[in-house]
Amino acid sequence: MDKCWIELDKDSDPDVLLKLSGDKTPGFNGGEEEADEASRQLREELIGLQDRLFAEQKHSLLVVLQAMDTGGKDGAIRKVFSGVNPQGVLVARFEAPSKQELARDYLWRVHHKVPAKGEIVVFNRSHYEDVLVVRVNELVPAKTWKKRYAHLRNFEQMLVDEGTTILKFYLHIDAQEQRERLQARLDEPAKNWKFDEHDLEQRKHWKEYMRAFRDAIVQTHQKDAPWFVIPANRKWFRDYAMLTIIVEALRKLDPQFPKPAFDPAAIEVV
Ligand code: ATP
Ligand code: MG
Repeated sequence: MDKCWIELDKDSDPDVLLKLSGDKTPGFNGGEEEADEASRQLREELIGLQDRLFAEQKHSLLVVLQAMDTGGKDGAIRKVFSGVNPQGVLVARFEAPSKQELARDYLWRVHHKVPAKGEIVVFNRSHYEDVLVVRVNELVPAKTWKKRYAHLRNFEQMLVDEGTTILKFYLHIDAQEQRERLQARLDEPAKNWKFDEHDLEQRKHWKEYMRAFRDAIVQTHQKDAPWFVIPANRKWFRDYAMLTIIVEALRKLDPQFPKPAFDPAAIEVV
């Protein structure tokens, strides 16, 4: 598999993401048409693999999606998973926690949404908000969120040890791209419903967000629960890169239709 993502390591510049253009298309030399054709083929393969994953009921796949506002999480979910059997693919959205959720530890609301065997679950935002929005907006003291990287590593390792494959995606748009996308939400009537003034407030903290993302990624990137930084200004590259990575992970799991415990040839339906 060509490496269609950006890798960050512990030595990377604190502002590595601030400086990263969302226009990049690592590991891919073609343009939109080639990417769309490759995505079409990958999607067909994904549909077959998901069918077998669901039938086999042995493995589960958790896809964590994080991005800045307008980063394209909703679009990626729609495009990457279009055509799969909705019975086996679920999306869990994590919005600002309710009073009940805030009264408990931050992983409480997350844990019961993880995939069952045979399922793919996509987290549209996730437990990572608790080291991103929470850090940037100082919703808890620094000493509290700093401890969370270790919790997140351990929580995810536990899920992996118990049979879940985890893929974490950060869809990276740059500040200029966000400006255009927010403006489009004002200019295009069909997009007005998506405009949220709160996003403008958060945009003022772009630099802090980029640092928070960088730290979350380097602190919690593990062999068994890797992060993929996907430049996402170009939606066709974003979809292609996600499909490439997800399909490759499912190929490795190699799910099989279960063998019947009976001889089908020996039974006649009358
Ligand atoms: P879009 O990118 O299309 O705007 P969205 O993912 O922002 O979609 P919204 O419902 O607009 O969806 O926003 C969800 C909000 O919930 C985000 O602002 C996010 O930061 C916030 N949120 C999620 N988890 C937490 C958390 N643990 N603490 C505080 N805020 C959170
Ligand atoms: Mg929003």
